[in-house]
Amino acid sequence: MGKTTGFLEYARKDGPVREESERVNDFCEFHGELDMAERRRQAARCMDCGVPFCQAGASLSGMTTGCPLHNLIPEINDLVYRGRMAEAYTRLSVTHSFPEFTGRVCPALCEAACTAGLHNAAVTTKENERSVIEYAFENGLVNEVKPSVRTGKKVAVIGSGPAGLAAAKALNSRGHEVTVYEKNDRVGGLLRYGIPNMKLDKSVIDRRVKLLTEAGVIFKTGENVGKDVDAKKIVAENDAVILACGAGKPRDIKVPGREAKNIFFAVDFLKAVTKSVIYEENEGVNPSDLVKGKSVIVIGGGDTGNDCVGSCIRLGATAVTQLEMMPKPAQERLPSNPWPEWPRVLKTDYGQEEAAFMFGSDPRVYTTTVSEFKKDPKGNVVEAVLVSLKPEKDEKTGRTSMVPVEGSERSVPADLVLIAAGFVGSEEYIAKSFGVETDARGNIKTSGSYATTDPKIYAAGDARRGQSLVVWAISEGRSVAREVDEALMGYTNL
Ligand SMILES: Cc1cc2nc3c(=O)[nH]c(=O)nc-3n(C[C@H](O)[C@H](O)[C@H](O)COP(=O)(O)OP(=O)(O)OC[C@H]3O[C@@H](n4cnc5c(N)ncnc54)[C@H](O)[C@@H]3O)c2cc1C
Ligand code: SF4
Repeated sequence: MGKTTGFLEYARKDGPVREESERVNDFCEFHGELDMAERRRQAARCMDCGVPFCQAGASLSGMTTGCPLHNLIPEINDLVYRGRMAEAYTRLSVTHSFPEFTGRVCPALCEAACTAGLHNAAVTTKENERSVIEYAFENGLVNEVKPSVRTGKKVAVIGSGPAGLAAAKALNSRGHEVTVYEKNDRVGGLLRYGIPNMKLDKSVIDRRVKLLTEAGVIFKTGENVGKDVDAKKIVAENDAVILACGAGKPRDIKVPGREAKNIFFAVDFLKAVTKSVIYEENEGVNPSDLVKGKSVIVIGGGDTGNDCVGSCIRLGATAVTQLEMMPKPAQERLPSNPWPEWPRVLKTDYGQEEAAFMFGSDPRVYTTTVSEFKKDPKGNVVEAVLVSLKPEKDEKTGRTSMVPVEGSERSVPADLVLIAAGFVGSEEYIAKSFGVETDARGNIKTSGSYATTDPKIYAAGDARRGQSLVVWAISEGRSVAREVDEALMGYTNL
């Protein structure tokens, strides 16, 4: 398990990151790789700890800590330390379907729970993972199983995000005929049209989709099931259907002036940016025209908001403000949030770093939201009225909510507003067209496992658990595949 004294001998070293001054000029990935000698030293820092929380994926105080896929992290790190990269890849493949995605975009739940992180810096498990999979691709080790015998069973997967892809990969390898339906023009879900290219180069998705296609997975893009493709027909033609259609319904900001022009939901904007910048295609709106030389307000202080900040800076915004309803988190763990819980601390992401570099300060304004948008005679948004918020406890329910502070309103210029305020479940027409129920949060309802209220129809990923992470989508895609396989064959070896 690594070098037992490695964490004492070597300091943590992260891969090189391109300077803000350079990376704001393009949409290329900005995280580089360490050379192999340094990578092995970093893996050597994984100690022989008695209880590796890193691979537990446990729920502590309502948050996951450790890898939800239960990657065999100490074993993988040991193989990397010894330079046995091909074996490290084999070990990683036991639990993981697409390390090339999480090795780039995962928030590394494993590292938050790393024992070395208790007194020192955690092991670079996420970057080690990326090195292993990139080594495997470079050395021709990555192949998808092309089954020599088919079972005669047919499975339809609705949605080609990480959950749908993980389920399709597993079920195809088992010999079932898998068809993935995707309403967008390209495969990948939010990996393609949510997460920006600088975090995940789109060729990384294409590389995997090509292998899956060669192995027999059928992809049908531009097919919106429940709208232009009949859901009932799909159910009739298949032995099982998996709804992996994400949690695509955005939370809106319902304030006066919301109807003004140039107010967009974050994912619509980010999709338009990827289409325009990466594929040179415009769907009626050119993001560069919307942003260049403009003042942008991003509503939502989370990761999606950060991606909007980074994208707008690259497109030439002159000012970017990011509004967050909640108070600024602590810089370090509070006593009430001990290791190995997920640390609820201030995280400054790439977009915020870039805003600080370009404009001199962090773009985030805490405990603040918008109470009104003002527009010009042509209907374009020109100003946002901001209002401060304070926590207030409801004596009856005991719940604390953020309420406006009277008299705190002030106006700021706003040429473009991006709403990144989260998601409220999957689009309603999907559940309706398949005749399955949703839960109180708008997610597709499942009964303990992955089967919906119709036993032939299953749900996985954000569609089932609400907006989450790529690692959880992959985990759910793998699990739903096992459940479907067992239902179809009477047992499963997935
Ligand atoms: C901007 C943004 C940035 C993010 N960054 C990160 C990150 O850095 N790290 C991380 O771990 N997570 C991140 N996430 C979250 C992560 O992307 C999601 O949790 C994950 O993609 C969910 O996977 P999924 O397969 O369940 O759904 P999705 O990725 O949403 O894929 C669902 C797919 O189903 C398709 N679909 C929907 N309805 C239909 C229909 N009726 N017919 C056919 N197709 C349909 C959609 O077009 C979509 O392609 C981010 C999310 C956003 C919005
Ligand atoms: S998938 Fe994420 S949590 Fe799991 S080992 Fe990789 S980086 Fe860590």
